Amino acid sequence: MPLNLRIPGPTPVPEEVLQELSRPMINHRGREYASILAECTEGVKRVFQTQNDILFFPSSGSGTLEAAVVNALSPGDRVLGVSIGSFGKRWGEIARRYGADVTMLEFEWGRGADPETVAAKLRQEGPFKAVLVTHNETSTGVTNDMKALAEIIRPTGALLMVDAVSSLGCVDLQTDNWGLDVVCTGSQKALMLPPGLGLMSVSPRAWEVHKTAQMPRFYWDWTNAINYQRKGENPYTPPVSLYFGLRKSLKLIEQEGLPNVFRRHQELAAYVRQSLQELGLNLFADPTYASPAITSAYVPEGLSSKQIQYPLEDKYDVVIAIGQEHLLDKIIRIGHMGYVTKEHLAECLSYLREVLVELGHKVPASAAA
Ligand SMILES: *Cc1c(COP(=O)(O)O)cnc(C)c1O
Repeated sequence: MPLNLRIPGPTPVPEEVLQELSRPMINHRGREYASILAECTEGVKRVFQTQNDILFFPSSGSGTLEAAVVNALSPGDRVLGVSIGSFGKRWGEIARRYGADVTMLEFEWGRGADPETVAAKLRQEGPFKAVLVTHNETSTGVTNDMKALAEIIRPTGALLMVDAVSSLGCVDLQTDNWGLDVVCTGSQKALMLPPGLGLMSVSPRAWEVHKTAQMPRFYWDWTNAINYQRKGENPYTPPVSLYFGLRKSLKLIEQEGLPNVFRRHQELAAYVRQSLQELGLNLFADPTYASPAITSAYVPEGLSSKQIQYPLEDKYDVVIAIGQEHLLDKIIRIGHMGYVTKEHLAECLSYLREVLVELGHKVPASAAA
């Protein structure tokens, strides 16, 4: 039996996609590849809900965050990093290392970015050249109200750059309607692919800023990437297999329908939250901003996260995530993004129950077995 992989990436890959991944190689500067690249680009635009250009880089999600920084900023640019967890901090740190003048606005982990507080920061300390926002903060299981934040950030003229690595394809993100300039994601989360392909959208405004942006770049250069993509190629050897897989996973998303995909994630997240509470666990994330992609809960008093994680894997082939940084030992996280059904989650939750009972946790009597 395959692992029931309930971490927030890499996520399970559907059988049909796995088959595509094992296809023989083709010429990455040939006509077949050009047609696959074109098809993938159009399909990806629909998932990003955008007419903007889509750029591909062979990388994990973090590569696209770095690409956004080096292509749109110059050393000394004032940047606001809105952070609600570890990924928000990471993006701010990338910008800082490249010489941006970064101001961090950090919210308590487990909470969403409060739009009023962001507005006040922009008013009091602006103008900023760019604002970095995490859509879905995977370390805490919190999804920001991206539409509300965009409405506040856009009028200031700052470039709005969004880390949508764990939300694109499972949480509604309307790139064009909300005016998001740069949106970054990776293949191994809701897109149901193995790791290794970074994807990002670039608005006309971002292209304009890019023209004069001075940060050093070579591998990540947007101009180079788009010039090649317009010819049906990439500057450097692309992960060809992942494009075979992407073409198929985009078909799966289209067959289900994007709104249905979003609804499935919301319903499954509600199911996980309810089940965890029935097991007597306290949820970690503020319910107003609880993520459709990943659910976090406090470990019961007296236990550590690994005490739960290891037996789940060793005895039951169920793999969950634990906390990051100061939350390492304090929370568990259950990923439900991409290829996931209620059956997968029911199995995960029933084995979680077993493990908790074995550890001496008192499951409330009302909890269904
Ligand atoms: C997974 C993830 C990333 C990127 O992580 P990689 O390991 O580089 O793919 C960035 N941001 C968020 C919110 C993520 O969940």
